Amino acid sequence: MTTARFWRDNQTRYNLMATRCGNCGKVTFPPRNVCPVCHRKSMGKMKRFQLNGEGEVYSFTVVHEAPSAFEMQKPYVLAMIRMDEGVMLTAQLIDVEAADVKIGMKVKATIRKIGEEGPGGIIHYGYKFTPF
Ligand SMILES: [Zn+2]
Repeated sequence: MTTARFWRDNQTRYNLMATRCGNCGKVTFPPRNVCPVCHRKSMGKMKRFQLNGEGEVYSFTVVHEAPSAFEMQKPYVLAMIRMDEGVMLTAQLIDVEAADVKIGMKVKATIRKIGEEGPGGIIHYGYKFTPF
C-alpha cells in the first residue's frame, strides 16, 4: 500500500493531464498542441490542466479473454468513461462486479498497479476507475 500511496500522490506522473483550447474551449485528452476543432496554430493557446478524475460510464464491455498481464484478474470490465470535462477515455473498472456496472454510473480515477515484468522487474502503474 505504501508504494500505491506514493504513486497516487505523485502529481508529476499519471495525472490525467488534458488541454483546453484558449480559442474555442475544446478539451482534448491526451494533451495536444493544436486544437482539433479550430486548428488554431496559436502557440500557448492550448492550456494544460488536470482532469478532476471523475466521470460516468458511457459504455462498457466484460473482457473474458484477457492479455497475460491481466491474467490474475479476469474477467474484467473495460469501460468508456465520459469525464466531467467532456472528454472520453477507456479504462478498466475495479472494485465492482460486472453484473453491477450500469451506464451512467459515477466513477473516479485511481492509480493502481497494472502489471509487473518478472520478479523484481519494472512495475507498471496506470489509472483505473472505481464507483463512488
Ligand atoms: Zn479550438
